[in-house]
Amino acid sequence: MIVAIDGPAASGKGTLARRLAEHYRLPHLDTGLLYRATARTLMDEGRRLDDVGAAVKAARGLALIDFDEAALRGREMGEAASVVAAIPEVRAALVQAQQSFAHRPGGAVLDGRDIGTVICPDATVKIFVTASPETRAQRRALELRSRGEPSDYVKVLADILHRDRRDSNRAAAPLKPAADAVILDTTDLDVKGTFDEALRLIQSKLEAGAARRVRSTVP
Ligand code: C5P
Repeated sequence: MIVAIDGPAASGKGTLARRLAEHYRLPHLDTGLLYRATARTLMDEGRRLDDVGAAVKAARGLALIDFDEAALRGREMGEAASVVAAIPEVRAALVQAQQSFAHRPGGAVLDGRDIGTVICPDATVKIFVTASPETRAQRRALELRSRGEPSDYVKVLADILHRDRRDSNRAAAPLKPAADAVILDTTDLDVKGTFDEALRLIQSKLEAGAARRVRSTVP
């Protein structure tokens, strides 16, 4: 089973993907880390984020394991990741590794922006997680505060809106729900409520698939 979770910044998709992976005992790939790590490499080398050649080289050199998450998680890295993620050649350099991860035996859970549309158009279940920008900014500000980082709500909201705009308007694999994705609006849901709703969606998708298979084998 391949579970594709997409959605905008701070929608809760990462937490949901992690919980689903634990529940179904599937490997999980947070694909945002790939773009964050690509941007980090460029910054560490003192290069510009729009240096296409260096960005592609950095993307190709990534290993899908052993990311130093602490160094990649900050606000600044999310913004830098969104700049390199708009470069089509960088995206192309990362497609195969993501698809190999998704198609390992038993399946996987992947979260990002283009999993249902580009990386795994054949995913068993596609969930597009969203929430109002204000709710996402509140959640992100709380998370930053808990890590002792600056967490001014107005700034966080502006950042989120800016990143959403760049991710949604780029030409290469823009942020958007796949035509066959289920939209899960978590504005009024907590972590458990979101998880329960996602489980329900997945179960009904699996049952519908099983019923279709039975029908097609009946002579
Ligand atoms: O999800 P996260 O905030 O870690 O992603 C950082 C940035 O990486 C996003 O704003 C987006 O520009 C980019 N990204 C992407 N495609 C993905 C995952 C992340 O373009 N599948």
